Order: sequence, then structure tokens, then C-alpha cells
Amino acid sequence: MEENVIFCRQCEILNNLPKDVLDYTQKLYRLLDEKDRATDSLISQRLKVCETCEKNREGTCQSCGCYVAFRAMKKEGNCPMKKW
Ligand code: SF4
Repeated sequence: MEENVIFCRQCEILNNLPKDVLDYTQKLYRLLDEKDRATDSLISQRLKVCETCEKNREGTCQSCGCYVAFRAMKKEGNCPMKKW
């Protein structure tokens, strides 16, 4: 049985993602080596920045075209505008 929500239950961005995208995000997170995963608190911190960013459009970064959750969940992930 697959795990349910793994990270950042309070993040508005994640809560507003379509269910299939959220499921896919969590699947990708589980596929990452643990050493490559950002911590819950780091993901949360990053997504809080995205929530108020002018480049955020419903969880997609208009600067890079990625779902911000995909970038935020990797330890070495970064913001294309260097906001985190
Ligand atoms: S530019 Fe950076 S802070 Fe803004 S939405 Fe994209 S990843 Fe998030």
C-alpha cells in the first residue's frame, strides 16, 4: 500500500494541486533517494516563498515551467530566480 501525503500538508500550493498532479508529486518524492530529498520544513519554507511569488501560477513556475513542488522537494533544488 502506498503512503499518503508525505510532506507539507499545510502548503497552499500542494493543497490546490489537482489530485493526479499531487499523487504524481508524491510518487516522484518516494522515488528520490532519501539523501536527495529536501526535508519537510525546507519544502514548506520554499513553497511559502513560491506562494507569494509573482511567477507562481497555480503551482507552476512561469519562470521555468516546472511545478514548484517538483523543484522544492529535491534537496539540491533551486529557484530559477534565486529566491530560495
Ligand atoms: S520564481 Fe522561484 S519563488 Fe517564484 S514561483 Fe518560481 S520557483 Fe517559486
